[in-house]
Amino acid sequence: MSTSRDSRATDHGDAASLEHAHDLCAFLDASPSPFHAVEEAGRRLASEGFRSVDERAPWPTTAGRYLLVRGASLVAWVVDAERHPSSGFRIVGAHTDSPNLRVKPRPDTGAVGWRQLGVEVYGGALLNSWLDRDLGLSGRVVVRTPDGGAVRLVRDDRALLRVPQLAIHLDRGVNENGLVLNPQNHLSPVWGTGPIEEGAFARHLATLAGVDAGDVLDWDVMAHDITPAALLGVDRSLLAGGRLDNLLSCHAAVTALVRTVREPATLADSGPRAVPVVCLFDHEEIGSESATGAAGVLLPTVLERIAGAATLDRDQWFAALASSFCLSADGAHATHPNYIERHEPSHRILVNRGPVVKSNANVRYATDAPAAATVALAAEVAGVPLQPFVVRSDMACGSTIGPLTAARLGIPTADVGVAQLSMHSARELCGAHDPERFTRLLRVVLSDDAPPVSA
Ligand code: ZN
Repeated sequence: MSTSRDSRATDHGDAASLEHAHDLCAFLDASPSPFHAVEEAGRRLASEGFRSVDERAPWPTTAGRYLLVRGASLVAWVVDAERHPSSGFRIVGAHTDSPNLRVKPRPDTGAVGWRQLGVEVYGGALLNSWLDRDLGLSGRVVVRTPDGGAVRLVRDDRALLRVPQLAIHLDRGVNENGLVLNPQNHLSPVWGTGPIEEGAFARHLATLAGVDAGDVLDWDVMAHDITPAALLGVDRSLLAGGRLDNLLSCHAAVTALVRTVREPATLADSGPRAVPVVCLFDHEEIGSESATGAAGVLLPTVLERIAGAATLDRDQWFAALASSFCLSADGAHATHPNYIERHEPSHRILVNRGPVVKSNANVRYATDAPAAATVALAAEVAGVPLQPFVVRSDMACGSTIGPLTAARLGIPTADVGVAQLSMHSARELCGAHDPERFTRLLRVVLSDDAPPVSA
């Protein structure tokens, strides 16, 4: 018995979800570093009429679509006749950073005829996943200008670097004992042959940035896998790519915000809706404690200035926060077929079966019952199935920006995301059809388009 290709595709999803998956691949490929992710998100929003706000200048007081970039973080929002901060905020938060290898300030090194770069590990990377991959370089460079310094984004997608694995003949027990990698000794990529050349890396950056070598003042540059994101599987029902955690959610949030301004809400109107806000933070993978991270004042400051520009007084500001809702969008663990015992047996998480609502009794995830119910009602409007997740009771739980933003703002928050395998690998794996469903859910949340849960 044969099954047509089309009918097999509808087992898991449809043309819309595949189109979304291809667009996600394009977003991932455009975003090798968090700086590029913010640039790509900003480019997409600008083409929908979002205007950049300079946070050093007076805040805009007119209705409009706005975005603000601080480093590798971005906040975007809409204030107009239908959406006013007096009705609160509908926030979707995600993070732009992913674990990787970052180039040290004096990186030129090497030994025995190999030229190498010194790197640090950023975040909780699966170190083995960076071995024997062809790597490019990307990030930001600060270059000298006539007035001082200016930031330039750089990327080089050629196969430049490689962290070579030790041959099994020199490490006979590796398959039995496991691979142990010392981050200082074993991860320096090779990027050429010959004697160490002091200043060679800075000269390479200068070439990329189009400036003289002496005009490179400093950099935040990292390695990335140059393999493009792609659909995978005999039925093309999977998507493989670097940085799915958490650019998948950044892409979903930006796409959902665009749909929020394009598509009318479906719920009957009863006065102005809440202001939709998308917040993409840097530094989640290292604890969020920074000027651009979720534990800092970036989001509270932006929300307070939106409220102030709409002439809310202090009491109205707190009332607006109490009327708000936040969805913390971040990756979830699919149940791994080769390690089923690592997962909670009554909470199997399957790919292509819908977004995952994550909860934890010790509030490593922010979700509580009213927040989960709010998401469930939004999912009904979106026509999207949900899967509840908890970690095994005898295992430690990860966390997200959800509890941080909830604590900073006192806003009810739910942790929701798309199921994946290989989280924090240089190349991760998820269902090809889940990202579009997640985006539909985020559209309903941002549009304030679902019945509310009263306290
Ligand atoms: Zn994450």
